[in-house]
Amino acid sequence: MNRCTRAIIFKDNLKHNLEQIKKYVKPSTKICVAVKADGYGHNAVLTARMAEEIGIEYLAVATVDEGIELRNAGITTEILLLSVCTPIEMHDLFEYKISPLVFGNEYITSIIEAADTYSEDNELTDFGVFLAVDTGMGRIGCYPCEAGEQAELIVKSKHLKLSGMCTHLAVSDSLAVDNAAFTKEQGEAFKTAIDNVKSKGINPGICSCGSSAALLNNDELHFDMIRPGIIVYGYYPDEITEKYLNSRGKKLDIKPVLAFETKVVAIRHFDKGKSISYGRTYVCEEDTDIAILPVGYADGLLRRFSPGLTVTINGKNYPVCGRICMDQCMVNIGKNNKDVKLWDKVLIFGPKESGALNTADDLAKIGNTISYEVLTSLSKRVQRIIR
Ligand SMILES: *Cc1c(COP(=O)(O)O)cnc(C)c1O
Repeated sequence: MNRCTRAIIFKDNLKHNLEQIKKYVKPSTKICVAVKADGYGHNAVLTARMAEEIGIEYLAVATVDEGIELRNAGITTEILLLSVCTPIEMHDLFEYKISPLVFGNEYITSIIEAADTYSEDNELTDFGVFLAVDTGMGRIGCYPCEAGEQAELIVKSKHLKLSGMCTHLAVSDSLAVDNAAFTKEQGEAFKTAIDNVKSKGINPGICSCGSSAALLNNDELHFDMIRPGIIVYGYYPDEITEKYLNSRGKKLDIKPVLAFETKVVAIRHFDKGKSISYGRTYVCEEDTDIAILPVGYADGLLRRFSPGLTVTINGKNYPVCGRICMDQCMVNIGKNNKDVKLWDKVLIFGPKESGALNTADDLAKIGNTISYEVLTSLSKRVQRIIR
């Protein structure tokens, strides 16, 4: 794999972010690092190993396969499964010690039945599950008023125990007054759910409410465990910006981890009036030189980034022109550009030390999306180099 279009993972930055997060929360607050979607495109095993090294208590995945990958790599830290799996996958939950978020009579009953079946041939005692509560996210979970009964269903089973309770916030990344109020209500609803479980005489276990945004924005919503994802990889969730945190005197010093880079593989001259790429959306306004880059939307450079996207070559930004193709795109470097040569490195985004002038947030703005989507769009074809 010698392709020049690749992602460099600056592992010192990853470690730095994890350590900063650990310092930011109370020592008694557990941390569950989200490594789903291959660690937001950064290599889940690397992230998990680093988290494990600095004593992070939990890792979170979205699929059973993601959990198995970590176990096969030797990760022994507790793993939480954040999404629903199907009955055929449940055997592997027990086999690989992956704790699911559960809710609803049907799903809980299938897990209990799968545990009973598994225990016929294997040892299985007190297998931990987390009760998911929907306090306003409108996704998975039971309603707070159902939490008591559902916890009872879990603890009455032969092989399962209740390890904890989780909920997820819908607008904790927003600073608007009505959204802040909604987040507060979600916190109250979660407390109600916890009380309902307690009132059945059941220990609710580790209670976990928020992701990165709550970690930064809502100290009172940390409960027993906080579940950061995007900040681990060096970006602030949506509106929760560095500027805002500094204004509250609450700095979290994080650095982007991944640099997306390629090289100039051809430089061609175009006369005034010539068009560039599909649809002929870009016409050269004057005689110019165009650099060809071997990167396109099949690598994760989304088609909607053009027009608007610029890339960095030798410390200067140049505009991508015309439509981004599946495997290639074109950059206007201007006539007789002495600074840009064949095979020069091109940075699409990355941390300062990569030489990039853009971050994933800059691309997100251009593409009307969030850094999460920019990062997780990088495809399998883009080799990750750990540095
Ligand atoms: C992805 C996810 C997280 C992490 O979210 P970030 O915004 O990246 O910090 C936490 N909890 C759940 C349930 C998630 O799905």
